[in-house]
Amino acid sequence: MQQFFIGLLATIVVAVTVVAQGPTRIKVMLLDGESGGPYHKWQLTTPLIERALEETGRFDVTVVTAPAATGVLDGFLPDFSAYQAVVFNYDAPDERWPAPLRTAFEQYVSSGGGAVVVHAADNAFSGWKAWNEMIGVGGWRGRTVASGPYWYYKDDTLVKDPSDGPGASHGRRTPYAIRTRVADHPITRGLPAVWMHQGDELYAHLRGPGTTMTILATAFADPANNGTGRDEPILMTSTFGKGRVFHTVLGHDIVAMSCVGFVVTLQRATEWAATGAVTQKVPTTFPTATTVSYRADLAALDPNYARGLNALDAPPK
Ligand code: ZN
Repeated sequence: MQQFFIGLLATIVVAVTVVAQGPTRIKVMLLDGESGGPYHKWQLTTPLIERALEETGRFDVTVVTAPAATGVLDGFLPDFSAYQAVVFNYDAPDERWPAPLRTAFEQYVSSGGGAVVVHAADNAFSGWKAWNEMIGVGGWRGRTVASGPYWYYKDDTLVKDPSDGPGASHGRRTPYAIRTRVADHPITRGLPAVWMHQGDELYAHLRGPGTTMTILATAFADPANNGTGRDEPILMTSTFGKGRVFHTVLGHDIVAMSCVGFVVTLQRATEWAATGAVTQKVPTTFPTATTVSYRADLAALDPNYARGLNALDAPPK
């Protein structure tokens, strides 16, 4: 009997300790290891994404690096189910993922797992049906009219455009204004109606099934900068089975990712993808309709910036 009470007491102490530590951190897999070219330096940007998530205190991030393009992925089968969200800082061609890996990921999301797709991750897997349903729209890697319609806003109306044409484009990297289209979503709640993004590529001509897609924010692709003259999708959500997917086209490089707007929407969206809710506050440093706002500490992760070559001030290329 005495042992029973000691055991009971121990149980109570353990329970109190857990409560004192606050809510359990959300387990996040940050997947990298391959990109479509040398311009998407995942080796540089993964530490930025990791820091941005960890600093909120909400996430426990594990970086998983897939075998390189020359590697064999037959033995690569991470335990997706150990995580509440998988963040893709990753872009590989169609044939890279073997069927068992695709099936495992589809089952993970359809049973309620979260996925976060950053910038060029929407270039990946142009022929993988489930992946394209998850991301809603994508670009490059051979995408054509067969990949799905264009999705954009024109005159403040959502357009699903089945016309033929290129499967992606972007102009020079410049700052641009992002307009919130759905203000009452957990990710966008409290954000300005319009905010300036740091110099970045503005993806346009994206195509895809968009089956369950909601476009949360758009940006005008200026024809003077090789743009479409349309308001292109920038932040999107989709569902896949019971799973939630967030897709941001922002984040070409360290400079783009140092934008407070990129960081905050990534932090909020990763929480949403994992849990369906957002508990984080929008910081007062968030960019406004007329002013960009960036994190010098994150920009310094770019060696050029750290050497005093301020890429933020360089003419757009
Ligand atoms: Zn890019």
